[in-house]
Amino acid sequence: MKKNLTILSLCILILSCTDQKKSTSENSYDAEIDSLMSLMSLEEKLGQLNLPAAGDINTGLAQSTGIVAKIKEGKVGGLFNIKTAEKIRAIQKVAVEESRLKIPLLFGMDVIHGYKTVFPIPLALSCSWDMKLIEQSARVAAQEASADGISWTFSPMVDIARDPRWGRIAEGAGEDAFLGSEIAKAMVRGYQGDDLTAANTLMACAKHFALYGAAEAGRDYGTVDMSRQRMYNDYFPPFKAAVDAGVGSLMASFNEVDGIPATGNRWLMTEVLRDQWAFNGFVVSDYTGVTEMIEHGMGDTLEVAALALNAGIDMDMVSDAMPSKLAESLEKNMTTRQAIDQACRRILEAKFRLGLFDDPYKYCDPERKQTDIFTDENRAIARSTAAQSFVLLKNDKNTLPLAKKGTIGVIGPLANNRENMVGSWSVAADFKQAVSLVDGLKNVAGDDANILYAKGANVYSDEPLEKRVSIFGKPTYRDNRSESELLNEALAIARRSDVIVAALGEASEMSGESSSRTDIQIPKTQQRLLKELLKTGKPVVLVLYAGRPMALKWESENVPAILNAWFGGTEAGNAIADVLFGEINPSGKLSTTFPQNIGQIPIFYNYKNTGRPLPEGKWFQKFKSNYLDVSNDPLYPFGFGLSYSHFEYGSIDANTTSLKGDQELTISIDITNTSEIAGKEVIQLYIRDMVGSVTRPVKELKGFQKVAIDAGETKKIQFEITTEDLKFYNYDLDYVWEPGEFEIMIGSNSRDVQTVSVNWSAE
Ligand code: BGC
Repeated sequence: MKKNLTILSLCILILSCTDQKKSTSENSYDAEIDSLMSLMSLEEKLGQLNLPAAGDINTGLAQSTGIVAKIKEGKVGGLFNIKTAEKIRAIQKVAVEESRLKIPLLFGMDVIHGYKTVFPIPLALSCSWDMKLIEQSARVAAQEASADGISWTFSPMVDIARDPRWGRIAEGAGEDAFLGSEIAKAMVRGYQGDDLTAANTLMACAKHFALYGAAEAGRDYGTVDMSRQRMYNDYFPPFKAAVDAGVGSLMASFNEVDGIPATGNRWLMTEVLRDQWAFNGFVVSDYTGVTEMIEHGMGDTLEVAALALNAGIDMDMVSDAMPSKLAESLEKNMTTRQAIDQACRRILEAKFRLGLFDDPYKYCDPERKQTDIFTDENRAIARSTAAQSFVLLKNDKNTLPLAKKGTIGVIGPLANNRENMVGSWSVAADFKQAVSLVDGLKNVAGDDANILYAKGANVYSDEPLEKRVSIFGKPTYRDNRSESELLNEALAIARRSDVIVAALGEASEMSGESSSRTDIQIPKTQQRLLKELLKTGKPVVLVLYAGRPMALKWESENVPAILNAWFGGTEAGNAIADVLFGEINPSGKLSTTFPQNIGQIPIFYNYKNTGRPLPEGKWFQKFKSNYLDVSNDPLYPFGFGLSYSHFEYGSIDANTTSLKGDQELTISIDITNTSEIAGKEVIQLYIRDMVGSVTRPVKELKGFQKVAIDAGETKKIQFEITTEDLKFYNYDLDYVWEPGEFEIMIGSNSRDVQTVSVNWSAE
């Protein structure tokens, strides 16, 4: 009967469902989708699987006739890299008025850390350990992007990363599965809200599934080889958390998983994702990920298209292999009609979930850009968020905060650079509207202090190297004077200053995609500048720009104060100034371990003990697991970060040390702010399972609370622990807890903890 539906009756059917408020539950659109699919030709079904990059079509539709012709033929499911309500309306109009079945398009974009109002890079955001703030940043991004026509964001990136050489560590939430999972949920909530049919929410896309952050040697797109134990316990959890939070889509990663590229890996995309996790959204490949399987050595275009579909990929980003080849694959029995139908159905379902069949122009209100995008309110939120993401790494003799008086010399290659404030992946931003550090210091100090500036050095002395990172509209404004001329100018400024703010580190594009580094120190020419500045004897504050954990051993030993400011987004300069002048008390804590040197990588806090661990507090011992030339300690441990306040931890207290089955353990501790400044502290809970059926990490984060504590105030912090917190994936990949001894730890970071031992028996 359905086959006989006319287009008119189909439209009536679709219209009639506008009255029923859409739920996001699985199968709720089955009837509509069945009807629609019964009318679709094979070509039209394959069209839904097609996601070409639009490029931002800025000179009108005439310039993109290829794509527009395809849209008319029903051969496009969505587009990405196009923005503005007007342009998207025009293209959507072609789809819903000029194609046979009038199926609306999805419009995707990399809205990664804010839209036009740019928030700190995700790695920085994760250092806020503030889930409300992180959710809010995604909410603001969704509000802005949806006002500009976008319906779908390729975010959050939830890849665990333990290798700071990898440039994309900047895009994720750091090294820890627990923190990463909390952040994944917060981001999904922020983007999707609780109503995907609303005009101000976006469909989220958790990426890159999976293990992308574990590329060998930190080289982007590199091979990954990992035990399933580690996948399930350390790398999968944030994806599972995103799925449990209802994320609408996932993106496949470029790398291989167990010897098969993720894009063609049926175990990953179907057994894990669908069968074990019950994911009911759709999966998009990464950019040309399908045809990249040819280079991986998986076959020709025909074969890789079928491989991707059969694995469980529903949409092909850019390759055009699935849309153009699957009909032939089908003829040759390399795939099935059911597989094609299933992928098509999932894309249609996403469009229903978003309410696009009800109103394909729901994101195309041209008025909204005035009220929703880059508003003062959004910028104010971005400013306070940025300040919460900075991590104070060192502050000897209260060098910080600075007084708003005298002369402050601001020195560094990017100190007066707006474009480099936003960080990698800020595709919708107008970089020139960002606030540089010099601007920010002047804004916040007003007439109270005199701000002087000198560049002091280029980002790199090596010009070709600097050119490589002076891209994507983020110029480094290379100064062609000699290194000594730049230095002398800076030293003259330094001598006239009461205090020096050295703004050094990485340019924006030294991290992010395809920006891996084998040397993660501050570039040599900038180090030289820093050393000379210190020789003046003036107090020096290092403000570090970084998209990754950096190796800062010399700096940590010689510079009195270090504020890691990452890339703080549009309002970075103001936010840094807020913190430097003490308007805001820093409270960020690292979400990644900082190594002493690059040879320690990978270094992370939740390592395994080995059979020959080094006794705590020791360095070298023959035949123990250690190095001759450097201790096993990180430079700054996971969870570390200072404040202008001083927090004292009382003694850890457990309500019992002997538990059974589903009893609850209460751990508490008093934290006192002994300083005269109100501040925020992130109190962290770690657990170690002393004996397991498989080896267990020396500690694992299992809880945290970010708490505001007034000057002189004491707060009692309490954690409730159940056997859920003891669970892990065992050898058979069952999620279980095993009775026995556990160490429960509380501390201000992963190193400085107090411990209580408990015995937890089964019955
Ligand atoms: C990146 C993705 C991104 C996509 C679309 C790829 O190169 O790996 O993270 O979403 O491009 O821009």
